[in-house]
Amino acid sequence: MAVGTLCAMSLPFQFIPGVLLDLRYTFLAVAGLFGGPLAAIIPFLPAIIWRVISGGTGLWVGIPLIVMASASGLIAHRYIRDIPNGKAIVIVALAVVFSGTAGFFVKIPVEKWVVVMPAVVAPFALLLFVSAVLSGLAISQEMKRQEATNLNRIYKAIIEALPDCLNAKDLNGRFIAANPATAELMGAGTAAELVGKTDFDFYDHNAALMFRADELKVLEAGRPATIEQHFTSAQGTDIWLSTLKAPFTDEEGHLIGMITHNREITDRKRLENELIRTQSHLSNALASMADGLAMFDASGCQVFSNSRYAEMFPLTSDIRVPGTCLRTILRTAIERGEEISFIGNLDDLIERAADAFLRAGDRQMRLADGRWIEARTRAMDEGGSLIVFSDITKTKRAEEELRNLNERLEIMAHTDGLTGLLNRRSFDAALARIISQKGTGRPGPGLLMIDVDKFKAFNDTYGHPAGDTCLKTVADCIAVSMRAYPNSVVARYGGEEIAVIIPHCDTDHATSVAHFLCAQVRALEIAHIGSEKGIVSVSIGTAAIEPNSFCEAKILLRWADEALYAAKAAGRDCVRSIHTMNTTTLNSAGTSSSA
Ligand code: GH3
Ligand code: MG
Ligand code: MG
Repeated sequence: MAVGTLCAMSLPFQFIPGVLLDLRYTFLAVAGLFGGPLAAIIPFLPAIIWRVISGGTGLWVGIPLIVMASASGLIAHRYIRDIPNGKAIVIVALAVVFSGTAGFFVKIPVEKWVVVMPAVVAPFALLLFVSAVLSGLAISQEMKRQEATNLNRIYKAIIEALPDCLNAKDLNGRFIAANPATAELMGAGTAAELVGKTDFDFYDHNAALMFRADELKVLEAGRPATIEQHFTSAQGTDIWLSTLKAPFTDEEGHLIGMITHNREITDRKRLENELIRTQSHLSNALASMADGLAMFDASGCQVFSNSRYAEMFPLTSDIRVPGTCLRTILRTAIERGEEISFIGNLDDLIERAADAFLRAGDRQMRLADGRWIEARTRAMDEGGSLIVFSDITKTKRAEEELRNLNERLEIMAHTDGLTGLLNRRSFDAALARIISQKGTGRPGPGLLMIDVDKFKAFNDTYGHPAGDTCLKTVADCIAVSMRAYPNSVVARYGGEEIAVIIPHCDTDHATSVAHFLCAQVRALEIAHIGSEKGIVSVSIGTAAIEPNSFCEAKILLRWADEALYAAKAAGRDCVRSIHTMNTTTLNSAGTSSSA
């Protein structure tokens, strides 16, 4: 355009004799219109310089007109982003006309306009207009052609590089065009070799028939469709394709063929099938699980559960579904009386329970219907919790029965079956324990050996069962009487003998307790005609360890037994005590000496 401008300016033509004109404005405006600022300035500068060098009287009119012509092209360029269309070209051409003819109006006196206008200005304006429009149209056409060529090149490059198959076929299923990926899939040497051939030339008859049937369906429908196609390749491998088929038409809208886009999805299909199989195994396993299983996301919303989970909670099975929040489930379970509610604020309770459930750990809960459920929570990697619910009612019952049995066994191991008192074993252990705990400065323990008088005769007179009843009554009487002495131990020592241990008790105290017990038994007034007393009575021998003394259990027992013997010898129904004891005396330093 710069060269054109200079050429135009240096080679003016004589429009009519004496009037030299040129087409510089066309070049200036068109350069700006199509090329932008840089393209505008290249012809603009030489045009200005040339005009200044040329000088003359029209200099100060000519320069603004050059500026105007360039500016008109630039302004149009500024507002048109795309290739300038006919409207823009016409507007710029009018600006060119104005730039080229304005000088006449300035330089020629008004009275001569009548002559100059039709003779010079109008034809020149027309020339400028036509030249601007034609050059504009020619350039825009060229630009469109270049753009189309570029676009074609890009499309071609994309299609050739596309790993997916892309091809076009005519209505008879013959290839019109195809990319290299299509040729590769079909086992053809090059894409060009495909042209004019059909699927029947490359696939086995059945596969080709199936492809053709798919094509005919799409052609019939006249709409694009995506289908999955499965076939066995010539090498015998299973191949899956995801295929888009789109009919295409000529300019008049007549159907002339179809475009096909294939993507091989064999690997995806294999994974999908694998996934379906795995999911089916998993859901079978979950459905047949004896435990309920539920997954909750990080916000406490249920995302998954198996059928057993809902079955375990029949009153709330309708809400134990994905999407329900654990807090809602807990609240509903309490409201419907499925779970036992505890006294306190319900909201706090639910909040605490929900937190506990969603935290990793094991917990047990008792439902209102008496069942025990164990909930084992484990944290999941992606956040949230997996809870396994197990019905442990049977285990709980077995545990409870075992506990009861153990308690009974424990009692049986320590108590005497007939009297309900502690047995001999427990007595021995208690006496040893109490003696070992004895501290210096305090007396005790005191030991009372109690023996029912003439009990053999009682049995002989009233029978053994009556003897049992009598023995039980006497034992109860002694046990009840000893309740007044906390920490005292009452045990059946053997046969019809009962032993009593009173911790921290000296001989006098033991003697007075023994008298009290004798009186209590006597007060029972159980008839005993075999005894000279006429009623059941007991004889008691007592012994006690003095303060700062120590002796072994067997010594204390022997003394108490000796005292009992003495009571029997003294006529029964009485108390005898051992006062003189051969004990070891503890001194204040804790060492011992014989006394
Ligand atoms: P004493 O006044 O000297 O103690 O005379 P006793 O007859 O009580 O003494 P002995 O030791 O000769 O007899 C004790 C009797 O106690 C013998 C036994 O038949 C009876 N006896 C021991 N244990 C039981 C028991 O569990 N039930 C019954 N019915 N009798 C028992
Ligand atoms: Mg006896
Ligand atoms: Mg006796």
